Amino acid sequence: MIDRCGRNIDYLRISVTDRCNLRCIYCMPEEGIRLTGRENILQEPEIIRVCQVMAELGIKKIKITGGEPLVRPRIPGLIHQIKAIPGIEKVTLTTNGILLKKQMKELAEAGLDSLNISLDTLDREGFMKITRRDLLDDTLAGIEEAMKYPNVQLKINCVPLGIEEQNLCEIAEFAHKYPVHVRFIEMMPIGYGSSFTGMSQEKIVSLLEKKFGILFPYEGLPLGNGPCKYYTVDGFQGKIGFISAISHKFCSECNRIRLTSQGYLKTCLQYTAGRDLREALRNGGTDEELKEIIKAALSEKPDGHHFREKVKEDDTESLCMSQIGG
Ligand code: SAM
Ligand code: SF4
Repeated sequence: MIDRCGRNIDYLRISVTDRCNLRCIYCMPEEGIRLTGRENILQEPEIIRVCQVMAELGIKKIKITGGEPLVRPRIPGLIHQIKAIPGIEKVTLTTNGILLKKQMKELAEAGLDSLNISLDTLDREGFMKITRRDLLDDTLAGIEEAMKYPNVQLKINCVPLGIEEQNLCEIAEFAHKYPVHVRFIEMMPIGYGSSFTGMSQEKIVSLLEKKFGILFPYEGLPLGNGPCKYYTVDGFQGKIGFISAISHKFCSECNRIRLTSQGYLKTCLQYTAGRDLREALRNGGTDEELKEIIKAALSEKPDGHHFREKVKEDDTESLCMSQIGG
């Protein structure tokens, strides 16, 4: 699928729920969001059908996300079915890890290729401050369990907030001690993220270099689906990565589209641009009709975000990250 800017779109992120067992301050309000009624959330066969049609159009990689995807029952079963679709090469999952310990074995058996676990701090107080839940031990147990499955590539994602309770060197230690990549994700001004400035990539690099020595740009084979810039550090088993969508904009290389849990196909994080697929799915739309809707959405995929312009346009997205899936 080549979009109107010549970008090859081969990566679909699917949010399977807007529910979550954490309340990260930059993602969700304390009281949670107004949840979508279950009847409005795509059912498993509907998700599979979208994946089949997308695979026929050229999607090769699928990420399952949320909300917290593991609060939805039967995620290993869903992954198993998506993996069986001809043309789908990789299925990955992004999770906060809270429910991972129990589900990891089944996820690995289902053929999960890679797993991103979000972890912003190793400090218990800091974890409570950021996620509003005292569940650090559960995430750590999830990480420990995930490490028992070396065939599932593990990455740890951290959103630096620039607060005292977040020791980024401690998080980077995971890549030092284990064959795990640690990635620092720049705060995006979406939903509740708009209230935070986060920390610049340059500041993080300098912090890490003080402790671990020089970060060398990694120039080997691609390590994932996306725009992460990786670095190697002497003595480290894993890599250190940066996804800095605002300060190091990569829209010209964007290869992704997103499906919300309600079946809306989003073509850009910042804008509402896209098409509803749920209506066609539930009203007898044929595969060909679905493909036409998807192609129409792609023909209008924005050339990029304009977060830095700080001008709110009518078509600026009002959903928060937990509803979009990150
Ligand atoms: N609950 C799962 C998790 O936390 O990994 C999956 C969904 S979550 C929305 C996906 C990713 O988006 C997480 O790594 C989270 O830290 C990140 N995220 C949420 N809000 C963000 C923001 N405003 N800017 C940058 N990343 C954000
Ligand atoms: Fe939940 Fe993930 Fe958002 Fe945190 S970042 S509130 S874990 S959806």
